[in-house]
Amino acid sequence: MARSLRGWHVVVVGGGATGGGVAHDLSLRGLRVTLLERGELTSGTTGRHHGVLHSGGRYAVSDRESATECIKENRILRRIAPGSFECNGGLFVALTDEDMDHVPSFLNACEASGIPTTVHEPAAALQLEPNLNPGVKLAVAVPDASVDPMRLVLRFFATAQRNGADLRTFTEVTGLVHSNGMVTGVLAHDLVLQRDYELSADVVVNAAGPWSGQVGACAGIDVPMQLSPGVLLAVRGRYCGRVLNRLHNPSDGDIILPQRELSVIGTTSWVVDDPDVPPVPADHVAKMYAEGAKLVPAIASAQRRSAWSAVRPLVASSTATAATGRELSRTFQCFDHKQTDGVEGLVTITGGKATTLRAMAESAADVVCAKLGIDVPCSTADTVLAPHSAYYTERSARYGT
Ligand SMILES: Cc1cc2nc3c(=O)[nH]c(=O)nc-3n(C[C@H](O)[C@H](O)[C@H](O)COP(=O)(O)OP(=O)(O)OC[C@H]3O[C@@H](n4cnc5c(N)ncnc54)[C@H](O)[C@@H]3O)c2cc1C
Repeated sequence: MARSLRGWHVVVVGGGATGGGVAHDLSLRGLRVTLLERGELTSGTTGRHHGVLHSGGRYAVSDRESATECIKENRILRRIAPGSFECNGGLFVALTDEDMDHVPSFLNACEASGIPTTVHEPAAALQLEPNLNPGVKLAVAVPDASVDPMRLVLRFFATAQRNGADLRTFTEVTGLVHSNGMVTGVLAHDLVLQRDYELSADVVVNAAGPWSGQVGACAGIDVPMQLSPGVLLAVRGRYCGRVLNRLHNPSDGDIILPQRELSVIGTTSWVVDDPDVPPVPADHVAKMYAEGAKLVPAIASAQRRSAWSAVRPLVASSTATAATGRELSRTFQCFDHKQTDGVEGLVTITGGKATTLRAMAESAADVVCAKLGIDVPCSTADTVLAPHSAYYTERSARYGT
């Protein structure tokens, strides 16, 4: 290595879960990191997700790779971000004969993925969750949890900032500096000062979530993505203590998550081309009420607090056509565009779940380090994160803002 680690400069585009994880990982390994986010941190999909720390149970039958990633990262996140989760657990609930037919494959798949389960007969399930549909046939407990999507990710940003990362919000990447098959920086627009500037980088990491395709297109690259929005409905009151999932293959409105004094029901899934401002169709909200009420009948008359939508940045499949987005894996992929497109200096990390943000960051940081010839292993799985409030307090101390 010709330079000290701080001599290598990586620009990360996007301040969501993925960008936060990457900024943390690289700055912990000793590299100089600048992260550019066009809005506030977590203002993209991350700040609007459902809030489930997945055990992987939801994906165990249909998407084993993602299930295995989730349970591994679930355990790591609990260790490195203590206090960030409501350790309430999850219940997969069988309501119909079809759900019951699904039970053996669900239990086998959980076991094969390393997800611990406890089976509860109806009386025990109703004791755990008195508002549950009294017709419950069986419930299976798994280690899901409720998480505040913004605060967890702020802990990654707080730690990255503490380790020297320069986190620039309200700064949009408007282009990539590239020539002769090499990206050497970004063109940035400071939305507060209304100023354009160029920032050079040894590597640019594209962590722009649903907008990753747009960032890649700046260098003429087609990032294989499928954008898939979903609607979430929050109602007033906690109708359950645990994260409730319907025990069947992932479908619409089959999760109820308690979050502070609310219950959040989700979600739907369809496909779009444009990541900006996904709609909140009224029939999707109605479906959340209808499906949610199957799990917990009182949801039918619950008072609506809000409904919103967010866009999943899924990796497109070369074999499956996506009609709704549910056909696609929730696993992630890291693209070294030198390998995939002959363009040096640009890495895209996309797909996955907020639950797997640390693993996504590790895979992107490994690729960056390999490109730069840096031999420093990842240590994020064993590094306890700073509290989320440190993002603000230490930022004030540093910038006086
Ligand atoms: C409805 C729904 C429910 C979900 N529920 C869960 C759940 O319960 N649990 C879970 O683990 N996962 C969940 N997910 C998945 C999870 O939300 C996403 O996988 C994750 O948040 C994606 O994070 P990201 O950082 O890749 O993208 P984002 O959070 O979208 O971050 C990308 C950022 O890049 C910024 N950006 C874009 N273009 C530019 C540019 N040109 N310049 C600068 N900045 C730019 C954006 O403003 C944005 O902040 C859910 C997703 C959806 C849609």
